[in-house]
Amino acid sequence: MADQEQTNFMAQENELDGYVKIDRYNPKKIESIASHYSEILKDLGEDPSREGLLKTPERVAKALQFLTHGYDIKPEEILKSAMFKEEYSQMVVVKDIEVYSMCEHHMLPFLGKAHVAYIPNGHIVGLSKIPRVVEAYARRLQVQERLTNEIRDCIHETLQPLGVAVVIECRHLCMSMRGIQKQNSVTTTSAFTGAFKDEKTRAEFLRLITASLD
Ligand SMILES: [Zn+2]
Repeated sequence: MADQEQTNFMAQENELDGYVKIDRYNPKKIESIASHYSEILKDLGEDPSREGLLKTPERVAKALQFLTHGYDIKPEEILKSAMFKEEYSQMVVVKDIEVYSMCEHHMLPFLGKAHVAYIPNGHIVGLSKIPRVVEAYARRLQVQERLTNEIRDCIHETLQPLGVAVVIECRHLCMSMRGIQKQNSVTTTSAFTGAFKDEKTRAEFLRLITASLD
């Protein structure tokens, strides 16, 4: 039941972006992934037929499909659906965007925040679209470095602004859960184009994303 609700929720979310994808879960893939997980449970010494695990392979399969649904989204279409002509030419900053992604080396989560800025060059984009672009790239198997660059490149190529800045700060569970010493360490990555290559502009962006509202 909960999974059904999730499907509907996702379909609605995508509709808001003018990009509708119905039939979010592919039943054939779910079945295939679930059967593999059943085998994995056995390999781990578990009994997939015990009560608590009966539906686990299917749940894992659905969770995995959700966690990688970014493959089905075209982030540039999200931006194109809400681009407006506007003479505003100051920095636009969207900070503290939640990031939930999966490291492609261990298939374990990494999570944290993204901060994105651009300087318009005749066009602005609906503000809610920036987090959707982050989401589209995060919901794939990723490395944080590539995630950072993909967000930058998508905005740069689609919107063609005077510059784009992306900073991502994440905690990687493959580091904290696998016994590596610095359990709470945060990895920071950044990528800049155009005007943000100028030291003063970049410093202003960094000041804005670290400043609090009060
Ligand atoms: Zn990893």
